[in-house]
Amino acid sequence: MPLAPSPTLLVTGGAGYIGSHTLIELIQAGYRPIVLDNFSNGSAHALKRVESLTGHALEVIEGDIRDAALLDTVFHQTKAHGAPIQGVVHFAGLKAVGESVAAPLDYYQTNVAGTLTLLQAMDQAQVHTIVFSSSATVYGIPREQPYTEMHPIAPINPYGQTKAMVEQVLRDWCATLPARRAICLRYFNPIGAHPSGMLGEAPQGIPNNLFPFITQVAVGKRSHLNIFGNDYPTVDGTGVRDYIHVLDLAVGHVKALEHARGTTGGFAAVNLGTGRGTSVLELLNTFSAISGRKIPYEFQPRRPGDIAECWADPSTAEALLGWKATRTLEDMCADGWRWQSRNPNGYED
Ligand code: NAD
Ligand code: UDP
Repeated sequence: MPLAPSPTLLVTGGAGYIGSHTLIELIQAGYRPIVLDNFSNGSAHALKRVESLTGHALEVIEGDIRDAALLDTVFHQTKAHGAPIQGVVHFAGLKAVGESVAAPLDYYQTNVAGTLTLLQAMDQAQVHTIVFSSSATVYGIPREQPYTEMHPIAPINPYGQTKAMVEQVLRDWCATLPARRAICLRYFNPIGAHPSGMLGEAPQGIPNNLFPFITQVAVGKRSHLNIFGNDYPTVDGTGVRDYIHVLDLAVGHVKALEHARGTTGGFAAVNLGTGRGTSVLELLNTFSAISGRKIPYEFQPRRPGDIAECWADPSTAEALLGWKATRTLEDMCADGWRWQSRNPNGYED
């Protein structure tokens, strides 16, 4: 009997941190991903490494999600070749909170207008399935912990606003046609890397986020870590977050697609986290123990806009998608360290 053809997917932002790891899981699950990326923050080397890890030749289009004509061509050509795109996994976007405060229009333009352009092209091509990279940032100031999906949506910066707006657009988009399916995955704090040491996070310039900063101190690229606040009402005074292994997150996308393909339609927003909070000092100490590297640090005042603590209630993901994080904080540290120590300059090596 001939094998069923692999379902074709458009993966926007596939050359980025989360997208590149997700490509591996998608390929292993039998999908045929077509990557669309403008390489503003992604790496062609990451895609080459995905190819060597999977043994699968990727189709890559260098382009922008705001380019309506390009999107129409991509959807049209795949249809003409008999392997139409059946769904979109939409990672492409800008993601730095501080930058979004300084340049909000860039964020609304790329994240909101770009997604509208993408959805219009999907409508033209009658593609009804999208999995969208949302964020726990949509919740804003916590009223209670853990965050459930029922927590009010009240983002406190333009980046979070763009994610909340796109979620609303997708909700409305689904309501107008029963066949449409949108799953918004609200990521908590993705860290770590592929266990091969070949793929990982490669931030440009000084990292904004805690984990890549720690790994860059460990590898000698930075002298010490500044810890923003040691007077929070938390276990040790430092901020608490729900760190999740990037490969667990990647698997979450495969599960979301399986769910979308098995339902008749509709909108869902789902937390992807472990359900466990970890403080800055706990992460630092775990990383030190795993890597054998001492991480010098200094306490600094709180970072403006930071909350004391947040973690996910991941029960919807388990009930709806059959997904649960399986990798530990030690796995995240070991895999993140393997990546950083073997690639001290990211993909530039
Ligand atoms: P990333 O910057 O590594 O990846 C984003 C990719 O999108 C990059 O390869 C970039 O070149 C591409 N891109 C940006 N603008 C584009 C455009 N206009 N057209 C085409 N491609 C474009 O980021 P990431 O960490 O992999 O995040 C992926 C998604 O997940 C983003 O939407 C981000 O907002 C969301 N998210 C990330 C985190 C996190 O902590 N990393 C947390 C929550 C949500
Ligand atoms: N953090 C820190 N030093 C840094 C970067 C982050 O102490 O250089 C703290 C930050 O205050 C927060 C936690 O680490 O408590 C996670 O921050 P990150 O920026 O990684 O994620 P987010 O704040 O977006 O959840």
